[in-house]
Amino acid sequence: AKEQGRDGWRFFSEEIHEQARKRLDISNGLRQAIQNAELEIRFQPILCTESQIIRGAEVLLRWMPPTGEIPPSLFIPIAEMSGSIVPIGKWVFQAACEAERDWFARFGEQAPYVSVNISARQLNDESVVEAFSEILRDTGADPSRLLLELTETSLMSDVTSNLRLLHRLADLGLRVAVDDFGTGYSSLAQLLRMPVNFLKIDREFVDGLDKRHDSKAIVSAVCSMARAMQLQVVAEGVENETQHGYLRDIGCDYVQGYFFHRPLPPSEFLSLLLESDAQ
Ligand code: C2E
Ligand code: CA
Ligand code: CA
Ligand code: CA
Repeated sequence: AKEQGRDGWRFFSEEIHEQARKRLDISNGLRQAIQNAELEIRFQPILCTESQIIRGAEVLLRWMPPTGEIPPSLFIPIAEMSGSIVPIGKWVFQAACEAERDWFARFGEQAPYVSVNISARQLNDESVVEAFSEILRDTGADPSRLLLELTETSLMSDVTSNLRLLHRLADLGLRVAVDDFGTGYSSLAQLLRMPVNFLKIDREFVDGLDKRHDSKAIVSAVCSMARAMQLQVVAEGVENETQHGYLRDIGCDYVQGYFFHRPLPPSEFLSLLLESDAQ
C-alpha cells in the first residue's frame, strides 16, 4: 500500500508539472499571438426579446495558434495573470471599434451596438483610458454605441480604484454592462454608485428558468429592479423556446444565446445583418 501511495504521489506531481508547463506554453504563446495574427473575433447577436431584431453583438475572442484552437476559458485567466490581457484587450477594442464604424456606415441608427468584455486587470492599468480614447479617435467609432462588459465580481474586486477608471471610461461616452449579474454579491447601493447602463443576467439563472422555480423569481426580480433603476437587461445563454417565452413574459429587454445564434465569424454576422435589412 505504501508503494502504491508513493507511485500515486509521483503520478500526481508529474501531472502538476505537466499542467504548469502547459500554462507556461500558453503564457509564452499569448505574448506572440497578436504579431503572429493568431487572434480572431466572433460576434454573437443580441436580440430584442419581443421583436427578435438584432440590436447588438458581443465580441468574443478566439485564439488559434498553429497547435490548434485554445478556448477563452483556458487562455483568458492566464492572459490576466501574465498581463497579456492588456495589449490583447486593446487589440479587441480596436476590432470592436472598426466593426461599429463599418456597421454604422452601412446601417446608420439601425446598426447594432458592440459589446466588449473587459477584465478587471485592464482597469488596473492607467494606460487603458488613453489607449481607448486614441482608438476611438483613430477609428471614428461612436463611443455611445460601444458597451464595456465587466463582471460583477471584477467590478467589486477593488471598488475604489476600478471605479475611478470606470468613470473616466464612461466620461469618454462609453457605456457599461454588468456581466454575469447575480453570481457576485454586490449591493444595490454599490451598483448605483457605478456608471452602469446594462445588466447581463448570468446563464446559470437563464438555464434554471425551465427547471427551477427560484430562477424565475430571481430573473423576474432582477428585471423589475433594473426597470426601477432605469437599466436595460440582457439575458445570456438562452437555449430554448421555453426560456425565451419566460423572458418575454417577465419583460426582459434583450436576449442572447445558442437558441438564436452562436458566436459568428465577422463575415457571417454581416450577411445576417444584410439579410434582415432586406426584409
Ligand atoms: P462571457 O462574457 O460570459 O461570454 C459568454 C460565453 O457564453 C461565451 O463563451 C459564449 O460563446 C457562451 N454562450 C453564448 N450563448 C450560449 C448558450 O446559449 N449556451 C452556452 N452554453 N453558452 C453560450 P466563450 O466565447 O467561450 O467565452 C468565455 C468567456 O471568456 C467569456 O464569458 C468571457 O468571460 C471571456 N472572454 C471572451 N472573449 C473575451 C475578451 O475579448 N476579453 C476578455 N477579457 N474576456 C473574454
Ligand atoms: Ca460577456
Ligand atoms: Ca456573461
Ligand atoms: Ca460567464
